[in-house]
Amino acid sequence: MGATPAWPPRSAPRLFVDCPLAAGDQRVLDGPQAHYLSRVMRVGEGDAVILCDDATGEWAARVISAGKREVVLDPVELLRTREDVPDFTLCPALLKKPRFDQVLEKATELGVAKIRPVVTRRCVADSLNMERARSVVTEAAEQCARTALPKIFAPVSLSHLIRDWPEDAVLWFADEMGDAPSAATAFAERLPPAGLLIGPEGGFDDAEREEVRGFLQARPVTLGPRILRAETAAIAATALWMGAMGDWAAQS
Ligand code: SAM
Repeated sequence: MGATPAWPPRSAPRLFVDCPLAAGDQRVLDGPQAHYLSRVMRVGEGDAVILCDDATGEWAARVISAGKREVVLDPVELLRTREDVPDFTLCPALLKKPRFDQVLEKATELGVAKIRPVVTRRCVADSLNMERARSVVTEAAEQCARTALPKIFAPVSLSHLIRDWPEDAVLWFADEMGDAPSAATAFAERLPPAGLLIGPEGGFDDAEREEVRGFLQARPVTLGPRILRAETAAIAATALWMGAMGDWAAQS
């Protein structure tokens, strides 16, 4: 007698839904999500779909009906509660769209809690399509099987970020000019909540560097002897922090 196949199968499609899920509380998906399930993933009655609500966690749901315009799902079982997200905020200066999309996607995969984009004087881009940014983050979270979505904030000026920075959080300042401790060791010296400020393609100007270094909660760090692209710096430093202080430690 062969083993009973696991349910839900690992290949089951994953989607984030807008409001909290509960067993038996059927959910009707329409629009692009219905199209994805019925036309791309070709789900049918009885198939499994994984639903996440960024509140209770991840549910195995059964397809009740799957049409072109809407798919009805019945949440059956809570598989995992929403992950405990390390309190880490990535504050990347806005970059040109494809590179900033890369920062959004990789920061999501790496496990950040918040993304607070910053507009600095040398930014080439000065605005962010928030709906598109949320879509990039949601797709990345679905792909890497996160049960929580990073919160994305509208871009603010550097002065505004500093003015509103939470009193209990350190702001790591990736300063390409060096003359700062290595992030590799510094990150482990401060518990969360923490944030990380990364400059734009053109870096910070002198006045901005002075403003950040003058902020009591800011701690300059270096990311090694080479000048990294902004997106490389954001991704590499976030990975470094997650490994030191985030949830990458062996799950107990
Ligand atoms: N225009 C700057 C220059 O040529 O010196 C380079 C800016 S770099 C492309 C973009 C951002 O990545 C910097 O503002 C900084 O936040 C971060 N970064 C890059 N390399 C770094 C390093 N070795 N140490 C610390 N931060 C770095």
